[in-house]
Amino acid sequence: MSDHVCKACGSTDLDLFYKVDRIPVHSCLMVDSRQEALDFPKGDLELGFCNQCGFIQNVKFDPKPQNYSPAYEETQAFSPRFVRFLEEICDDQIQKFDLKPGKTALEIGCGKGEFLVTLCERSGAAGIGIDPGYRPERTVSPAADRLQFIQDFYGPKYCHLQADHVSCRHTLEHIHEVHEFMKLVRESIGDRPHVDIFFELPDAERVLTEPAFWDIYYEHCSYFTLGSLSRLFRSTGFDVTNLWKAYDDQYLMLEAKPVDGPTQPRLELEDDLAKTKGQVAQFKAVIGPELEHLRGQFARWKHENKKVALWGSGSKAVSLITTLKIADMVEAVVDINPHKHGKFLAGCGNEILSPKALVDIRPDVVVVVNPIYLNEISRGLGSMGLEPELTAL
Ligand SMILES: [Zn+2]
Repeated sequence: MSDHVCKACGSTDLDLFYKVDRIPVHSCLMVDSRQEALDFPKGDLELGFCNQCGFIQNVKFDPKPQNYSPAYEETQAFSPRFVRFLEEICDDQIQKFDLKPGKTALEIGCGKGEFLVTLCERSGAAGIGIDPGYRPERTVSPAADRLQFIQDFYGPKYCHLQADHVSCRHTLEHIHEVHEFMKLVRESIGDRPHVDIFFELPDAERVLTEPAFWDIYYEHCSYFTLGSLSRLFRSTGFDVTNLWKAYDDQYLMLEAKPVDGPTQPRLELEDDLAKTKGQVAQFKAVIGPELEHLRGQFARWKHENKKVALWGSGSKAVSLITTLKIADMVEAVVDINPHKHGKFLAGCGNEILSPKALVDIRPDVVVVVNPIYLNEISRGLGSMGLEPELTAL
């Protein structure tokens, strides 16, 4: 038992199992100078596993310093692999839920709007997107006259926005009060049982088993498996109708329908509480040596005077650098997103460059932050005449 309360189920039966102090409270916020990046607000992270529902949360999380403004640059839409994935999930949702002209799709936490725009372009449906980090100038679409965007956090004041399809992608993991949030979503749907719900978020099972510590960072205060996510939905008035994993098993996908009151588990994939408990214990046992091993690798490269470049400047890169404390062992950080070039990594101080900068830097090693982009990056390096040692996390 601990002093902490599970934000998903209210239990105090939490096991604390991983701790990183003084990490930047944001990893995707654009910072204009090295000094600003180094002075970036920091917070502590300590993960607690709930023995009752399997939910994992940062028990040290403080929502106050969070600032999701338009300077927040989370989009992966500059990668062809990601665009293909986005189109595939849109077509899947359109087909399953018969999205068409006359219907409305609402996306909570729509970011720069790529999913909603794609969904509405391909279905003919109207769309409403809500996100404090939305940038109107990024939406150039033939569906623009059917789309409405609200630059704000989702909250009770938007309960009047009624839709046939409600989606929420890569947002719940940023939300601290997850039970309150799901109750709000359920209340705002009201007595409209036909509404289809689609959620997508990172899979904690993969983070635990790899172990992928670079996917643990301050912005993500909430971590779910298929089972713990389903338990939260079932306890807040939803029937979970479909569960699966996507994007090389990096993401959890959940579909649900609103119902009256809690529901009982009925999908095989929900039954993972004992398994997750074992994975948490395993993570706790191996994470220390794993961090030492990786830090040792970067230290060896530096000792051998090898120039190391990181490809990817998102949250994974920030987490890798701040968890291992290797900012001075990384010669360059590059990213294909042009909006990030010339900016600096929060908490790390490394400047983000265009991949073209590697032609002059001539790195000996390129570390690919997300292995799913390995082929894309390998081709990119080849086209620049570069043949560094290529390694993925
Ligand atoms: Zn719980």
